Amino acid sequence: MASSNALRGATDTRSAVEQLDLEQAQGDPLLGRMVRSLGRVLDQEYASFSVPLAHGIQRFIATYGFEVRDSDASQSICAQAMNVGELVCVPDLTRDERFARHHRVEGDMLLRSLLAVPVYSPDRCIVGVLACAGTAPRQYDNGQIQDIRDHATFIEQTLVLRAAAVRDSLTGLYNRRFFTEQVDREWRRANRSLLPVSYALLDIDYFKTVNDVLGHNRGDEILKEIAGVLSRSLRRAGDTVARYGGEEFAMILPTTPEEAAAGRLRQILDSVEALRIPHPHPEREVITLSAGISCAQNMEQAAGVDPGLLLEQADVALYAAKKSGRNQVNRHSLLEGAGG
Ligand code: GH3
Ligand code: MG
Ligand code: MG
Repeated sequence: MASSNALRGATDTRSAVEQLDLEQAQGDPLLGRMVRSLGRVLDQEYASFSVPLAHGIQRFIATYGFEVRDSDASQSICAQAMNVGELVCVPDLTRDERFARHHRVEGDMLLRSLLAVPVYSPDRCIVGVLACAGTAPRQYDNGQIQDIRDHATFIEQTLVLRAAAVRDSLTGLYNRRFFTEQVDREWRRANRSLLPVSYALLDIDYFKTVNDVLGHNRGDEILKEIAGVLSRSLRRAGDTVARYGGEEFAMILPTTPEEAAAGRLRQILDSVEALRIPHPHPEREVITLSAGISCAQNMEQAAGVDPGLLLEQADVALYAAKKSGRNQVNRHSLLEGAGG
């Protein structure tokens, strides 16, 4: 039973880490300042805020006094402290059997003192650990323990505000502002890797009629149901879906060539149709989506092209999908017909 509890704990932590967008938080300046402040207030050489990711990776979101980005969780003293699940206060690591043989203690960093607290999500899931450490043994007093707890609270509040700023409040999907930034990031990544990247715009068919006939509240419920289908359709790291406008959604599918993107979009449209949400429009049976995709297949040619052009082309393709009957995927390859 213990193992299944541990497993459930791990899954919850992972989904809380995802919900709070912690994978993307590395280098956040505010979190960086909080960690630096902790190191200074406690007069410690090292401080960090780190979170567990999939595949046994401990990601250091912010560090003070050392530079590590990702670490093998099995090798990380912070990951070990996090797994304790409560305050860890060790005046002399060499005298604590949990940590004495750790390579950060015996080996490279020669750590002697450690103070660490879990960082929680709003629903009280542990999402990471705030820690500080030094190379000399020391006692921590109650005021210092309060200081680290206060810093953990500041970090928890910041994480909630950060996550809210990039999410759409109705559907919980990313908002347009975040999406636009993500388009730039994935575009640069595609240019570096020379791998293709596909973009899609999706729009609910005759949604105005839904609102006019069934009311805005029912419209909102349908938007949430469809958002659920879209987020469940994500498969790979980097796949991103956002609410782009009222009843319009947008997706980025990195490393996905046009043919594969079209296949995935068709599956998404089929899943929405399979919900069999009755449509009040006289000519429609159930709620459906139309989609337009664009793809930069050949990044060597695409270098220097503005990624905004891809979204424009996805929009052109979406318009064509609407014109030719809706509930279908239409595509437009970047550079084909773009003068490239
Ligand atoms: P088409 O198939 O061509 O896309 O037709 P449409 O009726 O879906 O398109 P149109 O752009 O005319 O209407 C979009 C409607 O989406 C208008 C508005 O009533 C509805 N809408 C936009 N945002 C929201 C929202 O946040 N909640 C609800 N309930 N409805 C919204
Ligand atoms: Mg529409
Ligand atoms: Mg629309």
